[in-house]
Amino acid sequence: MTNPSNLWIKRAIMLQRIEFGNCCAYCGVEHGDDNVVLEFAHLEEDDLNGIGRGRKERYYHRKKNKTNYTLLCSHHHQEYDDGKIPKAEVDIWG
Ligand SMILES: [Zn+2]
Repeated sequence: MTNPSNLWIKRAIMLQRIEFGNCCAYCGVEHGDDNVVLEFAHLEEDDLNGIGRGRKERYYHRKKNKTNYTLLCSHHHQEYDDGKIPKAEVDIWG
């Protein structure tokens, strides 16, 4: 039996991903392509970085601080966090 509140947040996150373009801001790979996992990435570090918060809290944090997030595939998320990709190339709001 699936918990309805889990379904709600799952759907909310899916819609948020679509709002963010539903593809990697750097390479354009889409969610649902071969084994692609898209991740919400911080553009700048903030107080939620590195803290193991629940997905609901993360969702609301992104909703409130939308322009500090972007959507990246896991490969480019890592490269961005390693400083190999300039912010301007992945900032979908600027
Ligand atoms: Zn990518």
